[in-house]
Formats: sequence, structure tokens, C-alpha cells
Amino acid sequence: TIGMLTLDAKGDMAGACTTSGMAYKLHGRVGDSPIIGAGLYVDNEVGGACATGVGEFVMRTLGSFLLVELMRQGRSPQQACEEAIGRIVKGKTKADFKDFQVGYLAVNKKGEYGAYSIQKGFNFALWQDGQNRVVEADYWMK
Ligand code: ASP
Repeated sequence: TIGMLTLDAKGDMAGACTTSGMAYKLHGRVGDSPIIGAGLYVDNEVGGACATGVGEFVMRTLGSFLLVELMRQGRSPQQACEEAIGRIVKGKTKADFKDFQVGYLAVNKKGEYGAYSIQKGFNFALWQDGQNRVVEADYWMK
């Protein structure tokens, strides 16, 4: 999945995502990316969020909607991402997730951002204050 979240100079937010789906997926499978609230969600009053990885985990927790609602309740984008990954892995062991990745990215109306994933290796590009850089997200599988 490629997910994009933007906050423009007027303070308006937008998001988009695109995906190839999962390798070896069953014919007819619909992943999280085309489902608003699962793979992508933006509320211009609060912030935006997007997801990558195994869409089944994201859909079961309506991850991007959850992230925006957590930010609405006052969580920072980073706190929201960690809590949303926490909902997926709750009651499970690290061995249960050794072959599965989910990564979340969130931005709020103040331009604060956060990211968190299950596995190491979730990188995202950040354009801020006229500069581009690649940031590696913190992760649960440590
Ligand atoms: N989230 C996508 C899916 O489950 C996979 C991806 O990350 O591209 O369909």
C-alpha cells in the first residue's frame, strides 16, 4: 500500500491510498485499502490516518477510523498509532505475528505526525518545512 496524508497551508487535510493487495490473495478478496475507515480515513476537523500491511487485521479494528477517533479524544498521532497496533496484538505473542506486518501513519491538524508498526522496517517519507526525509517508524516486535 502507498498511503498519503497531507495538510496544506490553509490547514486543510486530505488523504489517498493505493494498493496491489496481498500476494496470492483469493480471487475476489477486498482488502482494507478501498474501505474508508480501514485503510484510510481523514476528518478535516481532527486529522488523517492510513495503513499498510495485512488488511484483515486493519479491517477487524477499523484501524484508520480508530486512529482519527483516538486523536479526536486527545491522543497524539504517535500515541494513537501505538494504541491501534495494541488493539491488533492484544492477547497475542510476538511469535503469533512473526510473519505479519501492519504499519500505521497518522497526522493531526497541528501537523504533528506519528507512525508505528508491528515489525521493524516501516519507513515513510515526510515533507515538512520545505524538506524531505525518510523516517523509520518505531515498532512493537522488539
Ligand atoms: N493492505 C493491503 C491489503 O491488505 C496490502 C498492502 O499493504 O498493500 O490488501
